[in-house]
Amino acid sequence: MTQARLIQNASELTHALAALSQAQFIALDTEFVRRNTYKPILCLVQAMTDKGDIFLFDALLLDLSPLWQCLKQTAAVKVFHDSRQDLEIVWLESGQLPSPIFDTQLAALMLGLGESCGFARLVEAELGVVLSKDQTETDWSQRPLSDAQLQYAIDDVFYLAKLYPQLQQKLTANGRLHWIDDDNRQLSEISLYQADIISLRKKVKAPPFFNAEQKLRLDALLLWREAKAIEVNKPRQWILDNGQLLSLAEKMPNQLEQLSRLGLAPQTIRKHGQTLIELLAHPPEITQPAKIPSVDGEKLKRLRHYIEQLACELGLRQNAVLANKDELSVWLAGGVRPPRLTKGWRNALLTESKMDLIVGELRQATQP
Ligand SMILES: [Zn+2]
Repeated sequence: MTQARLIQNASELTHALAALSQAQFIALDTEFVRRNTYKPILCLVQAMTDKGDIFLFDALLLDLSPLWQCLKQTAAVKVFHDSRQDLEIVWLESGQLPSPIFDTQLAALMLGLGESCGFARLVEAELGVVLSKDQTETDWSQRPLSDAQLQYAIDDVFYLAKLYPQLQQKLTANGRLHWIDDDNRQLSEISLYQADIISLRKKVKAPPFFNAEQKLRLDALLLWREAKAIEVNKPRQWILDNGQLLSLAEKMPNQLEQLSRLGLAPQTIRKHGQTLIELLAHPPEITQPAKIPSVDGEKLKRLRHYIEQLACELGLRQNAVLANKDELSVWLAGGVRPPRLTKGWRNALLTESKMDLIVGELRQATQP
């Protein structure tokens, strides 16, 4: 039976890292809590090597910089399930991203193993093991961790390490190993984890009556608030709440007294009032992200239908794995494929199935 070790001091850490740096692959998971901070509070990092060593790194007791360094340096494949959140934490903690990565959720999608590939469902489908779900709401910051928590934490990487070779084998048998290589590589791109204006705009939508200048001011406020929240590591809404952002952008106050009439707290005005007035008067130029063009709905529907057919032939249950709606709109509008569709396996498949011709015909059709 595999022995799991709780890593709580520097010498244990050194030993564990020696084992990690020998591994061919490392299954990884993180547990954290969100509590009155911008960054989630990392509580535990679980790692299992292909040799069967399991380590539980106590992130509340240890400085984990040596672990991040080790993960950065080793050529071992880092296996995650639904890696986005884990990688975001690693990025926030260390300012770097490990590679190479293998995401078992992505692998499952490429193998057509189901629409929602939650970890428990995948483990059940692939390994025939039913995992207990009762620690999902647990407080990972309590110490000592309960036996149930430790077992749950261990299970996460234990079954992940079992899934990896199995999924890899299936991908190889399917001739799709290079598919996942292409996509896993993209997961190590830092831009994925940086808050950009598109994701920020989703948090606070400009009302339809906003004019161009008001939208520009809202963008400036969103970027400013995000940077401030990161700087002081507090939740965004503690800096300025969403309602305040909207009224500032709308009304453009130019005197401190006006700020308190808009409901800003005295201490917020004291700390940030002058900066906000400046910002609203001269919102900095931002690089506008490319807009998703609006295209003929009927033509888009037909293109999506072709993509669906292709995905179906490939046994993919989610068309978006191949090409998502935004990408298809861009393609249809400009006649040129968006970047993700011009690389790797997607490029090969779309070219092979003459999809460019289809898009060309759809674009020219007057009556779709
Ligand atoms: Zn977990």
